[in-house]
Amino acid sequence: MKHLSLKIKITLWFSTLIIIIVAIMFALMFMISGSVLKSDIKEQLVTLVETNAEEIEYYSNIETEEREKGDQYIQYNGGYIEIDDDFLDQFNGIYTALHDPQGELLYGESVVESPITTFDKVETVTEGREKYFVYCCELSGKNLDGLVLRGTVSEYANLTLLSRIMSLSMLLLPFLALIAIIGGYRIAQRSLKPIVKIAQAAEAINDGGDLSKRIELGDGGDEVHMLADTFNKMFGRLEKSFEDERQFTSDISHELRTPVTVVLAQSELTLEQERTPQEYKKALEVIKRQALRMKTTVEEMLTFSRLDRMTELADIKKINLSELVKELVEEQATIKKKDITLHGDIQSNIYIDADRHLIERMITNLIANAYRYGNENGNIYVKLKAEKQQICLSVADDGVGIAENELDKIWNRFYQVDTSRTSGQKNNGVGLGLPMVQRIAALHGGKIEVESKLGEGSRFIFIMPQKN
Ligand code: ADP
Repeated sequence: MKHLSLKIKITLWFSTLIIIIVAIMFALMFMISGSVLKSDIKEQLVTLVETNAEEIEYYSNIETEEREKGDQYIQYNGGYIEIDDDFLDQFNGIYTALHDPQGELLYGESVVESPITTFDKVETVTEGREKYFVYCCELSGKNLDGLVLRGTVSEYANLTLLSRIMSLSMLLLPFLALIAIIGGYRIAQRSLKPIVKIAQAAEAINDGGDLSKRIELGDGGDEVHMLADTFNKMFGRLEKSFEDERQFTSDISHELRTPVTVVLAQSELTLEQERTPQEYKKALEVIKRQALRMKTTVEEMLTFSRLDRMTELADIKKINLSELVKELVEEQATIKKKDITLHGDIQSNIYIDADRHLIERMITNLIANAYRYGNENGNIYVKLKAEKQQICLSVADDGVGIAENELDKIWNRFYQVDTSRTSGQKNNGVGLGLPMVQRIAALHGGKIEVESKLGEGSRFIFIMPQKN
């Protein structure tokens, strides 16, 4: 049983159950209809005998020409007993016979031999192997007194119909069982087909490692479709995380290749011959710069990948965003890079549920970019306000701005706008700042937008729904 397929097990279970139910139904039907038919035949027996009794008359004298055709005449007591042609001596298996007071048969067929003892009551008489219902009634009237009408019927007379039903059912039962088995099998096969598909898809992914494959079940909302959906979502997540992993490795190797090549080239070149201390110092400075770049890249990448796995978002708490932004603005204002002035316009008492570290990182990144791409003696405006169930935090600068065709690309990992076009701004970043900002915004259920014009400045806006 253990080794049978689920399909066969379900079919067997259902078919057995149906056969048992049908068999019980048949048995109950036979029992009930058997007893109904028995009591019915007794009633028929009494009625027939009593009706027949009314069809018997006595005539002391009757001329031959007065006799009615079809009627029976029996000589009795010097006259005639007339048995009307409506008298039914055999009807529906019920035999009615006329006996004289001594019990001798006068008319009809006597089925049972036993003497007549009981009147006006149906009794059961067993003769040989058969059981009969017998009903006797005494006739009354002139010269009829003492005559007895005896009706007899076999217990099974009425049951021939039942036996026919029984044999039909016997034929029908295997047929019904067959339909149940075929139907059950088809239903089980149909319901389990998607599961087979799921197994095949999982197998195909396992064999070929193709995570882009999905289970196609078509429309439907049953449990199996839900299961397939869950699997598809899981495959989707797996595919994304594998893709991210692959992208991460390729990105990081790509990003590290340049500084590593510079470090190697610089070292080889410097080591080719004896150098003055100044030359060594210069070479070491180049190497240090590249090493720092590699450090930043690796650190940023690690933060980024941790963000991807949302492990850093474990610490969601209610924080006072107004206080946080105020502190950051005060702190960043002291940088005074390029003589840029940092202005704050912060609405008080705005609270959000957030990871303080990540929000801090997001704001610092935006302010750092505003400094980096800002003009000498420029301005940075940090504004926080809550309106229409939304919290808006914007960081605007009047710096180099971003060309319209670059606006979409700045969110891509490692994407950096060509600095030669942005008036040669010195860029120490690695192109991970904005993708990280975007990721942090999304992790908090918010979004980040940008408005910018080349040469006029940029405005980055973080929008987050406000909870009541
Ligand atoms: P990076 O490390 O290069 O700053 P980011 O992801 O932070 O990387 O930014 C991507 C690019 O978007 C930058 O190279 C820069 O060209 C552009 N950018 C970001 N912020 C600003 C800004 N405030 N003004 C002008 N350009 C910006």
